[in-house]
Amino acid sequence: MMRRKNGNKHYFTRMGTRKKVLAFVRVKPTDDFAHEMIKYGDDNKSIDIHLKKDIRRGVVNNQQTDWSFKLDGVLHNASQDLVYETVAKNVVSQALDGYNGTIMCYGQTGAGKTYTMTGATENYKHRGILPRALQQVFRMIEERPTHAITVRVSYLEIYNESLFDLLSTLPYVGPSVTPMTIVENPQGVFVKGLSVHLTSQEEDAFSLLFEGEANRIIASHTMNKNSSRSHCIFTIYVEAHSRTLSDEKYITSKINLVDLAGSERLGKSGSEGRVLKEATYINKSLSFLEQAIIALGDQKRDHIPFRQCKLTHALKDSLGGNCNMVLLTNIYGEAAQLEETLSSLRFASRMKLVTTEPAINEKYDAERMVKNLEKELALLKQELAIHDSLANRTLVNYDPMDEIQIAEINSQIINLRQIQEVFNQFRVVLSQQEQEVESALRRKYTLIDKNDFAAISAVQKAGIVDVEGHLVGEPDGQGFGLGVTPFSAKPGKKSKSKKTFREQLSSLARKEGASSPVSGKELDVSMSKTQMTPSSKEGDVKDMIMRERETSSIEPLPSDSPKEELRPPRPSTPPPKPVAFEDFKNERGSEINRIFKENKSILNERRKRASETTQRINAIKREMDVTKEALNFQKSLREKQGEYENKGLMIIDEEEFLLILKLKDLKKQYRTEYQDLRDLRAEIQYCQHLVDQCRHRLLTEFDIWYNESFFIPEDLQMALKPGGNIRPGMVPVSRLMSLGEDDQDKFSQLQQMLLPEGPDSISFYNAKAKTEQKHNYLKTMMGLQQAHRK
Ligand code: ADP
Ligand code: MG
Repeated sequence: MMRRKNGNKHYFTRMGTRKKVLAFVRVKPTDDFAHEMIKYGDDNKSIDIHLKKDIRRGVVNNQQTDWSFKLDGVLHNASQDLVYETVAKNVVSQALDGYNGTIMCYGQTGAGKTYTMTGATENYKHRGILPRALQQVFRMIEERPTHAITVRVSYLEIYNESLFDLLSTLPYVGPSVTPMTIVENPQGVFVKGLSVHLTSQEEDAFSLLFEGEANRIIASHTMNKNSSRSHCIFTIYVEAHSRTLSDEKYITSKINLVDLAGSERLGKSGSEGRVLKEATYINKSLSFLEQAIIALGDQKRDHIPFRQCKLTHALKDSLGGNCNMVLLTNIYGEAAQLEETLSSLRFASRMKLVTTEPAINEKYDAERMVKNLEKELALLKQELAIHDSLANRTLVNYDPMDEIQIAEINSQIINLRQIQEVFNQFRVVLSQQEQEVESALRRKYTLIDKNDFAAISAVQKAGIVDVEGHLVGEPDGQGFGLGVTPFSAKPGKKSKSKKTFREQLSSLARKEGASSPVSGKELDVSMSKTQMTPSSKEGDVKDMIMRERETSSIEPLPSDSPKEELRPPRPSTPPPKPVAFEDFKNERGSEINRIFKENKSILNERRKRASETTQRINAIKREMDVTKEALNFQKSLREKQGEYENKGLMIIDEEEFLLILKLKDLKKQYRTEYQDLRDLRAEIQYCQHLVDQCRHRLLTEFDIWYNESFFIPEDLQMALKPGGNIRPGMVPVSRLMSLGEDDQDKFSQLQQMLLPEGPDSISFYNAKAKTEQKHNYLKTMMGLQQAHRK
């Protein structure tokens, strides 16, 4: 096997590896197992059939009585779980790496194909390959945060060479007005008109599956269509883009899960009308399927007869060839079915001989490619511009060169080392300039090291720089001296916008009668590497100390409340945080606390509604299952009693008709309720986000307030510059997450999670919620820091 690694990605393109179609056999459990005729090999990979001569005679002339079939596995008394592990797990896992995969169930009607594929939709434990594959796909997506992976599904039914959409969003009315067609293009094969549904979570995908199953049953009754006479293809489409934007490769794959029509030979025994037609179509399509697969395995063949029937045509890019293929043959264990069992096993062993050559479906994102090239071009142009200016060249033209220019270039030798040297020189020039600027400044100003707090605070006490390190009292006269505002003055007009950290600090300083005036006009001398103070006269400074001026740029916090203006003297020992938190909520934090509570009550109300809707959905689902059961019972009764046919139309009794109507109605209800639930979920998620944000804000503000009120010496507060290190991160993450979460919250969250997918989904949602919370926390912190920096 050759493995080629694509850049820094972990996809591999397998070349020259031929793989066999995997063939498994599943035996339907029975109390009447034909022990004398069916024997399993010790390795569970072979099955021997022994036919008694007298049964055999009269069927064919051939006298052979013993057969031995070597397969990839024989599953008897196997749980749905084991079947999935053995048959499907690998195929699904490889699909996420870009390999198409097809799993087909083949066999006689009643042998367990649908049970294997779909399983019992009413019982989680007995769910089949289909729902398990969806779960695996979503689980694997969770494990690959480096990729943005989308999942789509479709459900196609082929009956008598007509195509039906089992997930049609329109009411199910049979063949649509514009019949679906199979179309081929360079991207592959697709069915035009077939609805393909984007599903962002496991649950949505399940819901579609249930709907498809209900449609299948409804159609089998209303259109007199025998569901075991049709082929059903459930397809999961996966598309994975790297989250690294520069990565222009992406992969696509399809997983086809095929429940084939019953393979029994019907044509012989004098069937007529509908049954004969069905039998002919099935026999044909199954034998075309076999022909196509065999042709695919034959490396000398270049023509594969895909178009002979709808089944092979629709599966063209997913059969044999470059995809992973598994055939699961369902057989009965009873003696009475041995003829058909033999025929099924022959089919399986023929398929096992076929080899395929799996390959990744790798595609290129044209948009990303163009963007990457543009970026590269811009960088190269920049580099050229630097190069030119260093070489004192201007207006160099980089259009395609003429022959003379090319010849000139060829005569020069430019290597990487020369270019590196150019950049080294460039660095030297830069650092010289920097030094020159600094010494020029030193001549004019007294420079203080930015980290020298003592010096800074001394200078501030003298009122030379304000808290932000801005110069006070620039000679243009606008900076100060425009009236005195009493310290108790209320902040300007209340505005809804947030106040930055710096503004909070300034206003705090004012309120507490701080000795440092605030700069009137923002002078754009920020502290970069060193603090700069003009060598000004002492007298001016003293004048300024008592002056303070409101600037229009100072906006109060929404959480500012008038109560906090006169803060009582600081206690010698700070109060415990829980006590202080209560005070904070009544004071500076009152507004944000109110919003927090409001959001929380909305959230709780939505959660309650979601839980009620979930209960209703479960009830509807149960009733759908009961109705389906009843319908199937009616149908089997009808079949036993002999069907009434009238000019090709079947007559069904009223009871069955009413059941069909009921099922249809339930399906409609299910869909409506499910839509509601989905909307509610989205709303809940949004509200949760808001609540989290509020909670974080509340706690962070509290932390700032607590530190300022009880810990940070006032003069140090003044010395701290924006973005200082005492601000964020005083509350441990664990507390952020648990604070304000009452028991009702937790209970309704739990209910919310106990959804129809069973207990497996709890950890799934839990993990998701936690990641989201953590994400929110980090986001808030970053936002806060940014606000401080402003
Ligand atoms: P097919 O689709 O091949 O016609 P089904 O899957 O509908 O057959 O199976 C026929 C019946 O046998 C169903 O009632 C199904 O529940 C039951 N059945 C099939 N296989 C199993 C199995 N492995 N364990 C339990 N019940 C099974
Ligand atoms: Mg079936």
